[in-house]
Amino acid sequence: MALLSAAGDLPKLDAAIFADTGWEPAAVYTHLDRLEREVLIPAGIPLHRVSVGNIREDALDPAARFAQMPLYVRGNGGGHGMLRRACTAEYKVKPIKAKVRHLLGYPHPRPVPKTVFVEQWIGISSDESSRAARMSDDVKYMRSHFPLLFLPGGAQRGVGWSRTDCIRYLSARGFTSTPKSACLGCPYTGNRRWREMRDERPAEWADAVKFDADIRQGNARAIANGTPLDGEAFLHRSRLPLAEAPIDRVTRSEWNDRQTDVFEQVADAEADERGCSPWACRGDDDE
Ligand code: SF4
Repeated sequence: MALLSAAGDLPKLDAAIFADTGWEPAAVYTHLDRLEREVLIPAGIPLHRVSVGNIREDALDPAARFAQMPLYVRGNGGGHGMLRRACTAEYKVKPIKAKVRHLLGYPHPRPVPKTVFVEQWIGISSDESSRAARMSDDVKYMRSHFPLLFLPGGAQRGVGWSRTDCIRYLSARGFTSTPKSACLGCPYTGNRRWREMRDERPAEWADAVKFDADIRQGNARAIANGTPLDGEAFLHRSRLPLAEAPIDRVTRSEWNDRQTDVFEQVADAEADERGCSPWACRGDDDE
């Protein structure tokens, strides 16, 4: 959407906001720097980087406020569960709302007048448009808009761009390797992304494996407060330590990839990863 706006294919953005959990892959920060340098600054669109803390450090710091990640749990009684996700709201939505209020001139606790609001763009593509339909605005000063659903020229239906249309557009402008934004140790990570991390980015893999071991008894503050987890927590859905988890198992979507063209392969690969869009986290599909 930033490229489309900078090129004049969408209206000019007033600002772009990136909520940083402090634990993104290096490729995301590199991409963001490039996007700012090559696209946003030349177009006169300011990029605001906001943060309420480092999710990895907060999880392991008994003194830090921490919003729960959706960890897989094996209870002491043998049952399986998943902790309720609070991290997206705390580390992404909250700092974005604070920045929007600041930009509007009404920082908390000043009430925002009913007539004052921003239009917030959310990059949902046409192949997942049902997710946009399920979304509702939770504050009056931010009104959601989904520009990709109304763009002309989509390859499949004419109006509305699919994920594949977006990838083609990015590729044509030299942004082929646009990475997905998500914490390194996000439990929504699929086997494909885990393998890619292990095989291509060993330092990041080692970081995730270490965190997985360190979070086994739950977050540090809960332990310090005398409310430890009634079981063990894991990053991988197998509820095994990440280093031993069956991440080499090829999922059905990966088998399907092999029968489709190169753009579809990229699209499915992306779909397998659970990116963390503040207002459209794919984890919502699981809850
Ligand atoms: S990427 Fe995952 S762990 Fe990080 S904020 Fe989003 S849901 Fe939470």
